[in-house]
Amino acid sequence: MFDRVNKSLQTGKRTAAQKKAPVPFILSGKLVCGKCKANMTGDSGTGRNGIHYYYKCVNRKRKHTCDKKSVEKDYIENYVVCAVKEFLKHNRQLKELSQAVADIFNEYIGKDMVLNSLNAQMKEIDRQLNNLANAVANGIFSKTTNQKLNELEQEKEDLEIKIARQKAKTITPLDADKVYNWFLSFQNIDTTDKLACKRMIDMFVNKIVLYDDYFDIYFNTSDDENKNIKLDNLEDFEEIEKEQPSGSDCSHLVRSGDISTNPVY
Ligand SMILES: [Zn+2]
Repeated sequence: MFDRVNKSLQTGKRTAAQKKAPVPFILSGKLVCGKCKANMTGDSGTGRNGIHYYYKCVNRKRKHTCDKKSVEKDYIENYVVCAVKEFLKHNRQLKELSQAVADIFNEYIGKDMVLNSLNAQMKEIDRQLNNLANAVANGIFSKTTNQKLNELEQEKEDLEIKIARQKAKTITPLDADKVYNWFLSFQNIDTTDKLACKRMIDMFVNKIVLYDDYFDIYFNTSDDENKNIKLDNLEDFEEIEKEQPSGSDCSHLVRSGDISTNPVY
């Protein structure tokens, strides 16, 4: 296998899978231009340092009606991921949010119409069996009552099996504490794992409004909470094609103190 890898490296050939591997733009659908409020979408270009990826305002791209600077993909994604991680560390609403998620989920799975219907049928059979038992107790017993009793007991047995099967299919209710711990686990997310970061952003971020020197990030919380984050001298990435992509840790944010020292959370 290593031979093949070496060969591939030597010849500079790329496999079909490598060529096709999509570059995930994890802020797609969330990133908004601060100047014209249009979406900023993922784009790429080939420059002197090879292919570079960035987000560009769609009005600048299609209509040339906006002059918002394009921003390097990794640079802005890194800032946003770190902002979400800080939000999770300091947010006091996380417990409430966990409870809300569990409540909505549990309410949804509680509406099992099949199980409700089976339970209603069982109630009716029990009522009829009870009536027959009373009749027998009062001395009314005939071939018909005996036959009816047998039928009802068979029906009850069949229903019990159906109910057990339906219950086995039913999804276990969500526990709010487990949701909370799961939310907390995102604090330690691997920032180089783009798909995991995308899941986190999809879950917690409503939108990010990007200006040239800062962005406002709006979280999915009940009070429409947002946080203002300053950026280091954002240049138009399409023009400068940075040689060094930004690192994947959060040190730049911690150093700036923009989030970690802010008492809003
Ligand atoms: Zn714009």
